[in-house]
Amino acid sequence: MSDIIRRDPRAEWIARNRLHPLHAAMQPAQHSWMGPNGVIRKNPHGIGFIGPNGIKRIDRSGAQQGGATKRTAAVEVQLPLHQVPAPAFYISVVPDMVGGRLSSHDRDLLGLAHQLAGKDGAVLAVVFGEHKENAFATAGVDRLLVLEGEQFSGYAPEQRVQGLRAVDNQFSPRHWLLPDSRTGGGELGRRFAAALGERPATRVWQVKDQECIGRAGAGLQDLARPLARLILAAVECAEPVSETRHEALPVELSTTVARSLSRIEDLGAVAVDPAAIPMAEAEFIFSGGNGVKDWGLFHRTAEALGATEGASRVAVDDGFMARDRQVGASGTWVTARVYVAVGISGAIQHLQGIGACDKVVAINLDPGCDMIKRADLSVIGESAEILQALIAAVEAYRNEARRDAA
Ligand SMILES: Cc1cc2nc3c(=O)[nH]c(=O)nc-3n(C[C@H](O)[C@H](O)[C@H](O)COP(=O)(O)OP(=O)(O)OC[C@H]3O[C@@H](n4cnc5c(N)ncnc54)[C@H](O)[C@@H]3O)c2cc1C
Repeated sequence: MSDIIRRDPRAEWIARNRLHPLHAAMQPAQHSWMGPNGVIRKNPHGIGFIGPNGIKRIDRSGAQQGGATKRTAAVEVQLPLHQVPAPAFYISVVPDMVGGRLSSHDRDLLGLAHQLAGKDGAVLAVVFGEHKENAFATAGVDRLLVLEGEQFSGYAPEQRVQGLRAVDNQFSPRHWLLPDSRTGGGELGRRFAAALGERPATRVWQVKDQECIGRAGAGLQDLARPLARLILAAVECAEPVSETRHEALPVELSTTVARSLSRIEDLGAVAVDPAAIPMAEAEFIFSGGNGVKDWGLFHRTAEALGATEGASRVAVDDGFMARDRQVGASGTWVTARVYVAVGISGAIQHLQGIGACDKVVAINLDPGCDMIKRADLSVIGESAEILQALIAAVEAYRNEARRDAA
């Protein structure tokens, strides 16, 4: 998300109007502050606001709607710095870095690493190739090792295993943590385990009392086993780090990584038809509801963005979209990194289906609808106008990129 502070004129008007029933709720409230011992204190009662009917309302996006709370969300809290000057041991994490940034799965893993590191250990993140992340410190990275070089770029699991072996030789981490994901960590972790001759604990969702508990039996059973050195963890295996800031000190390998004689040649990414991607696996979903008035324009926008199409139940019931595109409780539960909801009100059945999406963008006429409350970014207005502007912006961006490349 950008640092641009979005203004909410209605909330600002309420904050100025002392006679408005929501006036008190729109005044700046302190939800977290640093206690005398340096630990961040939070006031759970400060979350949400009392609506005009006396019922407490809580904003589902986590970032409060409304002027006052928006203002506090924009103010960065200076978290206490966690330092490990001389680590007694390391816990190594190999984040997937999908799109060059830490995913929520990676952040969960860093949270788990801190549980295992305690006060004396340091969390060492091993990142391959170029990245775009600038929040390693707040995600909980004490030491950052970037393995650069074209030999690690693209699909190069054998070379990456070589890199991890070099890290293992130099830092001898007490534990290795990788995301058990389809985007890299699942395969890399298993290859690395085979190279080390160690048995990894897979699909781990909890680490407790020197035991790790993983899913087994087609996800229907739990398998508890003694804490393994190599852990391939599932999403939500731990709470991400949120109360401390870390040094993210750069470290380097003292040896060069030997080039593996690769048996795999990466021929590059292959363009796929976004419409052919199953909803549950799509990373970027462009979803339409009853507020879409021009379905031809909707399809053209999805194509221009290269997004997979989704729909609300009303859009499906009205025959504008196929049944397998329905998102929600009685459709597909999606896990996209970006979910754009065009003219969708945000009924609870729909919101249930997008609960695991990373970033939600809402395009809607009604600034008070539930989808806007859930969204990380909202655009209020007529859907057709906004979609046309979106296509024009995408085309302008592509033309510029083509000109730069020429
Ligand atoms: C048992 C059960 C299961 C259900 N399962 C699902 C499910 O899986 N998935 C699902 O989606 N629903 C499901 N529903 C239905 C759900 O309750 C809602 O009725 C449905 O999600 C509403 O769809 P909608 O938001 O597209 O339409 P509406 O509720 O009609 O909302 C349309 C939105 O578009 C906006 N709008 C209107 N015109 C424009 C415009 N020109 N430009 C921009 N915005 C505009 C409006 O402000 C409004 O917010 C289920 C219901 C039941 C009872």
